[in-house]
Amino acid sequence: MLGIWKLIFYLEPHQMFLIDTHCHLDDVIFRSVSSRIYQRAQSSGVKVIIAPSTNINNFDIIKNLAHNYEGVFYSLGIHPLSINLNSHSDLNLLYKTISNVISDKKFIGVGEIGLDFRKIYDDANIYFQKEYFVKQLLIAEEFSLPLIIHSVKSQDIVLSLLKKRHNSGGIIHSFSGSYQQAISFINLGFLLGFGGSITYKRNTKVRHNASSLPLDSIVLETDSPYMLPSWLTNDKDIFNTPCEIVDIALVLSRLRNCSIGEIASSTTKNVVNLIPKLNYLNYIDK
Ligand SMILES: [Zn+2]
Repeated sequence: MLGIWKLIFYLEPHQMFLIDTHCHLDDVIFRSVSSRIYQRAQSSGVKVIIAPSTNINNFDIIKNLAHNYEGVFYSLGIHPLSINLNSHSDLNLLYKTISNVISDKKFIGVGEIGLDFRKIYDDANIYFQKEYFVKQLLIAEEFSLPLIIHSVKSQDIVLSLLKKRHNSGGIIHSFSGSYQQAISFINLGFLLGFGGSITYKRNTKVRHNASSLPLDSIVLETDSPYMLPSWLTNDKDIFNTPCEIVDIALVLSRLRNCSIGEIASSTTKNVVNLIPKLNYLNYIDK
């Protein structure tokens, strides 16, 4: 316990301890370079990476990555755009897999799950997205696990579904709703994830939220290899990685008119409070 708090509060700014709460480390782009990406993240101060799964095919991959790299932790869930419209077998497999890994020190929660109404979907798709989401909320509730939630153009429905559950809190990944919706999520015990989108001047709503919400409810994420920050171009050879958390934290510190050290210590503390298993990081102090 002492180890991590010592690191968070007493280290110099150049020895910051940052957490990327959302990285698709299992993505094919990262496959052959994951070791290099991980080492670069470590040396730039991004000591912990949370890698959520998105479908049943990456459950094993993501678990193995977490066990290969000391600072990588994983969650298990079925993303709203990866749901199987024809069967419930994926949900059964999720339940079985979570039962098997519940005491795994690298397994930290259920996600990413949620609702994505970005495109126009037919009623059947909306129905299945909701069904998958609610069933995964029930699994999280049964095992008292935090949630990693993907919510696009669906914040009010997600809020109303969460209100019906005794959830263990979680992270609203890449939060894109209104200030008021943010406050409602915070009141339900959720943290709000901010990443590359705050680096674009045109994203006034997201930047306003990131600069004015209480700092004790904010966490950092890259959503890498997706969600490029403004300084990376869409060149096919350039992709987003957890290292970018350092400069994203710097942008946030400027938006909030505080030091990057304050951003690092607060956001890291927020994640550790939500996910007690990260106390395992005592190893860093050895
Ligand atoms: Zn994601």
